[in-house]
Amino acid sequence: MTTPLIDPFQRAISYLRVSVTDRCDFRCVYCMSENMTFLPKKELLTLEELDRMCTTFIGLGVEKLRITGGEPLVRRDIMTFFRAMSRHLDTGALRELTVTTNGSQLHRFAADLVAAGVRRINVSLDTLDEDKFARVTRWGRLPQVLKGIDAAQAAGLRVKINAVALRGFNEDELFSLTEWCAARDMDLTWIEVMPMGDLGNEDRVGQYWSLKDLRRTVTENYTVTDLAERTGGPARYVRLEETGQKIGFITPLTHNFCESCNRVRLTCTGELYMCLGQEDMADLRKPLRDHADSDAPLQEAIRAAIGRKPKGHDFDYSRQRADGQVVRHMSHTGG
Ligand code: SAM
Ligand code: SF4
Repeated sequence: MTTPLIDPFQRAISYLRVSVTDRCDFRCVYCMSENMTFLPKKELLTLEELDRMCTTFIGLGVEKLRITGGEPLVRRDIMTFFRAMSRHLDTGALRELTVTTNGSQLHRFAADLVAAGVRRINVSLDTLDEDKFARVTRWGRLPQVLKGIDAAQAAGLRVKINAVALRGFNEDELFSLTEWCAARDMDLTWIEVMPMGDLGNEDRVGQYWSLKDLRRTVTENYTVTDLAERTGGPARYVRLEETGQKIGFITPLTHNFCESCNRVRLTCTGELYMCLGQEDMADLRKPLRDHADSDAPLQEAIRAAIGRKPKGHDFDYSRQRADGQVVRHMSHTGG
């Protein structure tokens, strides 16, 4: 029996988020610039390398894998990887295999995801207005995403909607999105916009809609019960008694969640980020590629990386600047 991954602050690391591509068929304004330069193919971990990497983490006690990106479902042949990971569900080593997607390819892959053992997915959707959707995603089309959500539910997947809270953009849809999700038996989580990437001309502080405000509005209009549920992440949940649905708030800025952090993030090039909000990372691709016949050097590199997981991040908007900003796009680390 190997010793589990415990960081210097006695947090057990049981959750790995894996970005399988930096590419995407959308260009959401808060995530990517219009003209992105993507990584050359040889930089990316192959599907076989991703498998070896994830399998090694699972061997060290990771029980939950979330596949993300970029848009994970645009990576060629990605279902081969999902099918391969399902063997760890079969043995019980992995408790959950899940995905965060923009929904654009769900109509093609929903049934395959279910066949690979995926039970719940997160779909990112900030607005139900076609024009606004086209504006915020730049390249996305709402009907295609709605078709994907239909397909996912028809295939038996439990869908949670993630919406980035953007002041002056979807404030007016707080109730319509809530009711739409309730009618479809979907939970809804709001995410505070984070100071990621190169802000350029964009006013990230101006876009910031504090979830404290959002939550207050929810509380004024529904009967709200706080839920004790903790996922080891930045989300806090309430139940709306009127609709029965769960509403989540991901508040990296107004709430400090770091003390219970149980996760690390692997990029599509094999860099391990121990904290979403810090620059420190470990290159795991080298020990993986240099030692095709032994996983021991990779295991050692993973343990060394976890040994320097920082206590927390330094994001802070309180001075009306995006302090603690990390010059890295969310699509790189995987949201
Ligand atoms: N393409 C997939 C999607 O959109 O769901 C997966 C990757 S995306 C980077 C993961 C999540 O990060 C999405 O819910 C997206 O809205 C969120 N995200 C991207 N940039 C963000 C930012 N600057 N602040 C907060 N959330 C962000
Ligand atoms: Fe693509 Fe997701 Fe980023 Fe939007 S948030 S650009 S869908 S990776």
